[in-house]
Amino acid sequence: MTTALVDNYDRVVRDLRISVTDRCNFRCTYCMPAEGMDWLARSEILSFEEIERVARVCVERFGFTSIRLTGGEPTVRADLAVLVERLAALGTDLSMTTNGATLALLAPDLRRAGLQRINVSLDSLRRDRFLALTKRDRLAEVLEGIDAALAAGLAPVKVNCVLMRGVNDDEIVDFASFGRDRGVGIRFIEYMPLDAQGAWRPGSVVSAEEIIATIDSVFELAPVERRGHQPAERFRYRDGRGEVGVIASVTRPFCGDCDRVRLTAEGAFRNCLFAARETDLRAVLRSGGTDDDLEEAIRSDVAGKWAGHAIGQVTFVKPPRSMSQIGG
Ligand code: SAM
Ligand code: SF4
Repeated sequence: MTTALVDNYDRVVRDLRISVTDRCNFRCTYCMPAEGMDWLARSEILSFEEIERVARVCVERFGFTSIRLTGGEPTVRADLAVLVERLAALGTDLSMTTNGATLALLAPDLRRAGLQRINVSLDSLRRDRFLALTKRDRLAEVLEGIDAALAAGLAPVKVNCVLMRGVNDDEIVDFASFGRDRGVGIRFIEYMPLDAQGAWRPGSVVSAEEIIATIDSVFELAPVERRGHQPAERFRYRDGRGEVGVIASVTRPFCGDCDRVRLTAEGAFRNCLFAARETDLRAVLRSGGTDDDLEEAIRSDVAGKWAGHAIGQVTFVKPPRSMSQIGG
């Protein structure tokens, strides 16, 4: 029987983000240290069967409607299309967030396996800056990957761009033009204090307000009514050439509408990106726990979901995990 999963603040949870690996082929400066992290051993990472089981409990017991694969970099997990096929059979919306570097190779298989839509993370359109930001000279492959995703019929294809003051904030209009020309929606994301290096400062955030004003001064925008629990504030170009979104996690937090939970690569269940506490579902899975046990563990974790992340307030505590270890 399906019963909605409701937290203490009456928010209904129905969106599962699954980190399929903590590993990554990039080293984005705002996400992980240049030398990488200590990767989890293979045996510590959930198997496809274990991931599918948690997802199935979320869908069958709680009526989840949306699953997104992330990481680390999800495409570095071998045989990803096999997992996609299994999760697609659950019948929810199924998407993925990726750095796009291997999409030119993988997009057709992932689409065939049942992946519906995709977000490609890209923070600079300039080769030298892309290299400085990711420590990889792979801009051309990411651009090819975006084209391959469009050609494979993944729809929509969106580009996620994290703006950082003094780093790439002079590319706002370039990204808007890129999105308009290629037919992809750009989603600008405010920089959050989740970087492994602890370099984040309030002053490094480029606010949604500034981003929208900058684009509007070149390509006129009109607001689009917000859809349900989507974190992006959306705007359409008045000349009809698509849309752009901003995710104002820092300056205009949307915690009151949050319907999301996360499963890390090693099976920790997290009810918030910034959660200080998590539930070890791998222990439940590997100690012979039943689906009822998983259901109970998830329900009790979500009951403790807090009102919001409190970035910018004295009560804010940065979680011990970096973004690459949580999954964006
Ligand atoms: N490797 C994949 C990718 O880069 O798309 C998926 C994992 S990555 C951690 C997910 C998203 O988190 C990316 O869009 C990335 O830009 C974003 N991200 C990472 N660190 C961030 C930070 N400190 N603030 C805001 N977004 C961040
Ligand atoms: Fe890897 Fe994604 Fe983090 Fe970049 S943002 S280091 S691609 S996990």
